[in-house]
Amino acid sequence: MAVMKAAVEVNGRAYRWAENPVVVVCVDGCEPEYVTRAVEGGAAAWLGDVVAKGTALEVDAVVPTFTNPNNLSIVTGVPPSVHGICGNYFYDREADVEVMMNDPKYLRADTILAAFARAGASLAVVTAKDKLRRLLGHGMRGICFSSEQADRTTRAEHGLDDALGLVGRPLPSVYSAALSEFVFAAGVRLMESVRPDIMYLSTTDYVQHKHAPGTPEANAFYQMMDGYLAQLHALGATVALTADHGMNAKTDAAGAPAVVYLQDRLDNWLGAGRARVILPITDPYVVHHGALGSFATVYLPAGADAGTVGRRLAALPGVEVVLERAAACARFELPPDRMGDLVVISARHVVLGTAVARHDLSGLDAPLRSHGGLSEQRVPLLVNRRTADLPAGARLRNFDVFDIALNRVAS
Ligand SMILES: [Zn+2]
Repeated sequence: MAVMKAAVEVNGRAYRWAENPVVVVCVDGCEPEYVTRAVEGGAAAWLGDVVAKGTALEVDAVVPTFTNPNNLSIVTGVPPSVHGICGNYFYDREADVEVMMNDPKYLRADTILAAFARAGASLAVVTAKDKLRRLLGHGMRGICFSSEQADRTTRAEHGLDDALGLVGRPLPSVYSAALSEFVFAAGVRLMESVRPDIMYLSTTDYVQHKHAPGTPEANAFYQMMDGYLAQLHALGATVALTADHGMNAKTDAAGAPAVVYLQDRLDNWLGAGRARVILPITDPYVVHHGALGSFATVYLPAGADAGTVGRRLAALPGVEVVLERAAACARFELPPDRMGDLVVISARHVVLGTAVARHDLSGLDAPLRSHGGLSEQRVPLLVNRRTADLPAGARLRNFDVFDIALNRVAS
């Protein structure tokens, strides 16, 4: 009987076994207002019930408020200073290359998912984009696949042979709301068939990048999600939902992207190409945000004074805060060896770029919405059960979601 098993220890935290299946959902880009507006608009009856009768919290995501650092924090239960994934993209100082941080070799911590699988639990992970799959599934025995590549699953690599057949839906486009719907549909089908002990579902923020809370398109997305979550609830699962980051409009009064181009500024001040600006939002799917987010890290040339350059950057209109490496890593719990000399965060409605010439904004077919900064740190944490023993006065994080779902659900 599962409930009799010893707690599973991961990264200094202990997680109990649950009697019912536990589904943790990371809704990409879920600014809290998406949920409240969908509920108010009558589009999300199940979520409305959860807010009224279950557990409804607002918690802090990890800064930088990007997808990979937060998904990995959620599945490890610890911040990037421990697990190492501090962006989608970074400058590998040792190798002197700028690379994607998708490879599990960059992951420095065990995941709750892998640890439960080793302890004998059945696990299922479904992500929208394939970029997250290998990180989330690292070391984990069980089912793990992405919507994006659901047409090529094999038992050896993904824990099941025919994901498309299981879900019974066509392969969705990587730029579509259907990519996330496929994740939820797969979750329901897996719960009906395999009934895993623990399931992790992670969507994509395609809709949130384009549509503000309360718009018909946003409400339609939350209505879709609400229907699947209600099915997981009806199947007896504990469903805990949180987000990797919020989302804000990043435009000026005329609706054009509000961008501070850091590389252009630094080239003027220090000489062309002497400083290196890294935008950790960068990934292979930049069409909907043009690689523009509200967080950047800057590597300065030898001899440049970080304090002086930092003060000049902080004085630029639209820049919210500039910190030197040690202070930034202490405040945001980041790995110092993977951050530059300075961390720059822009204001709520402003993004940071490198050079004008390096951003292709031609794919933006809607006013820019993005994330990455302090202004996207507040996210919902909802559970379809009442909870007890939440630490009073403690700052709750999105990466407490497994602790809350496994350890703090009231019986
Ligand atoms: Zn995201």
